[in-house]
Amino acid sequence: MSHLETDLIHLGREFNESKAVVTPIYQTSTYLADADLSAYIVAATEAKHPHFYQRHGNPTNSQAAAILAGLEKTEDALVLATGMAAISSAILAVVKAGNHIVTQQSLYSGTMLFFKEFLADYEVSVTFVDQKDNEAFANAIQDNTKLIYVETPSNPNLDITDLAFIGALGKKHGITTMVDNTFASPINQTPRDFGIDIVLHSATKYLGGHSDLTAGAVCGSKDYIKSVWRRALVLGGALSPFDSWLLLRGMKTLAMRVKQINSNALQLANFFSTHPAVKYTGYVGLSSHPQFELANRQMRGGTGMLCIEVIGDSEEQAYKNAQQVLSKLQVFANAASLGGVESLVVHPASMWGSHHDKTQKSSAGITMGMLRISVGIEHIEDLVADFEQALTGLSR
Ligand SMILES: *Cc1c(COP(=O)(O)O)cnc(C)c1O
Repeated sequence: MSHLETDLIHLGREFNESKAVVTPIYQTSTYLADADLSAYIVAATEAKHPHFYQRHGNPTNSQAAAILAGLEKTEDALVLATGMAAISSAILAVVKAGNHIVTQQSLYSGTMLFFKEFLADYEVSVTFVDQKDNEAFANAIQDNTKLIYVETPSNPNLDITDLAFIGALGKKHGITTMVDNTFASPINQTPRDFGIDIVLHSATKYLGGHSDLTAGAVCGSKDYIKSVWRRALVLGGALSPFDSWLLLRGMKTLAMRVKQINSNALQLANFFSTHPAVKYTGYVGLSSHPQFELANRQMRGGTGMLCIEVIGDSEEQAYKNAQQVLSKLQVFANAASLGGVESLVVHPASMWGSHHDKTQKSSAGITMGMLRISVGIEHIEDLVADFEQALTGLSR
């Protein structure tokens, strides 16, 4: 086995049948059939066949999937048009009406909507537990539980779920386990090492890494990926040829980018942790993080995601302060999404106003003074200086 830095560049190169060093973009919806009709039947029915019709697959999708399966140590992988296409197709390939899911209270907002609104309509029940409490997962298991679904670190407060515990719990009860590994990226965390069955990504974030595409990935066993592919075929969330080419291009520098991002984020977190205008700094790479030991056991780096809570004794003042910081930042752009080369910042209480009511916000740990930051690869001194000036002059 080669190292992941090498795999990122060379895995799946057999899908490039051309003489071009860089895999071409196959900007076509359909492919010529072989004269031999029995071969055409294979092309039309085989999962992810790269030369039949775009919704079934294409060579760059196959190459991106081969890299992702290699990184996540699974037999196979499937890339789709968005992270949510991957998440919904992956879950629908495991559960059916009458089944039950155990998951955590803090989840990506789209995933939360899928569990709360969509699955309820299809008679799949879901129990939400505190991800920091291992026993809560165990206690929530019922006779009809088919899936344990976790996200770690989670959005936006960066709490951690104990992957070794979840992997063992699933094995003990014969329940499928699934992890959204978007925030960590395969550079910082490999859930398969802890017995997790299926790994999901919004490739829109670190994997693509340049904020210029949307994509998603499901990584798992060959048989499982085949059944996800069959769902995806009718749900229709195929990844476009150009976006999968951008994803391939972005992934080549994944290891370099994430290492730089880990280092920038840790230095920025250290700066926040002693700043008088910052009440709380949430970063899994800081020894003050309540789950630092667990983070060290299952992660190789702290990621580029951190959250801070600015001062403000009332909700109104904290909100005003957050607003002031956002308006003064110049290097950090106020925009949704994460995982790109440019640093971004958002105000979660505003961004998820439409998805969460007040009690949901507080159970998800979202406060008025909270800012979520996705650190990029700019020079650390410029990132620190930007927050230094933006945090000046806040009132209590
Ligand atoms: C962005 C994100 C998703 C959804 O991905 P899309 O590509 O936007 O569909 C899912 N999970 C996490 C953790 C995310 O950050």
